[in-house]
Amino acid sequence: MKATALFEGSYSVDVSKKFMPFDPAKHQVEDRPASLFIYVQPFIIKTKNDLIVLDTGLGFKNEDGKLILHENILKAGFKPEDVTLVLMSHLHFDHSGGMVIEKDGNLELSFPNAEYVIQRGEWESAYSKPSKSYKTEIFDVLQRSNSVHFVEGSGQFNSEISYELTGGHCEFHQVFLIEEDDQIIFFGGDVWPEPEQVLRKFAAKYDFDGRKSMELRIEFGNKAADEDWTCLFYHAKKNAIAKVSAADDTFKIHSV
Ligand SMILES: [Zn+2]
Repeated sequence: MKATALFEGSYSVDVSKKFMPFDPAKHQVEDRPASLFIYVQPFIIKTKNDLIVLDTGLGFKNEDGKLILHENILKAGFKPEDVTLVLMSHLHFDHSGGMVIEKDGNLELSFPNAEYVIQRGEWESAYSKPSKSYKTEIFDVLQRSNSVHFVEGSGQFNSEISYELTGGHCEFHQVFLIEEDDQIIFFGGDVWPEPEQVLRKFAAKYDFDGRKSMELRIEFGNKAADEDWTCLFYHAKKNAIAKVSAADDTFKIHSV
């Protein structure tokens, strides 16, 4: 199986939580005070049985009005209508915006033939806890579609895919492992969004439980090294797909 990163862009985000496109060739860091700089890339994986998208990006469009996500999937050699599974780590809008596409003023599923795999508690949080991080109009479209497959806790989705409820970044965040033949691919969502985060111990303020995320990164880092995982990093600036080695609690990132 093969994973491909679907790079949607780099952005600056300030307290308003609005993502402003940031192109280092055109824009100045000084013009974006008190901002975080964030890279966004969903992933696509072809296995023998499935064509899988992992998280869906912001759902931004290119100049022709097409989803950047769709454009990237075509560039990778696949068709959006052939996607069979959309695995969601959580539903914050920088991960869920591309679940739907606006056509003639209506929102439709951007992967009409896929099952969207969502942790039930995350879905319920999105509706019950008003937050700038969730856009429930996206989820309304899914609810009407009959395309949602809810999972609860941790478990095995099918013979290749397992999910683990981690919490950390948000209360019901989940991560995925995909195993085929001798290969294991790990998607850590926003618990481990950038590879370098395992190199230094820190609790992020933007997390629901920053300490837990930190501990999980160490745990996943060790397993990734032991079991030779290929890891996918959703907000990586570089090495979005990488392997990890560990010795005496010191990690190293290796691009693949
Ligand atoms: Zn994120």
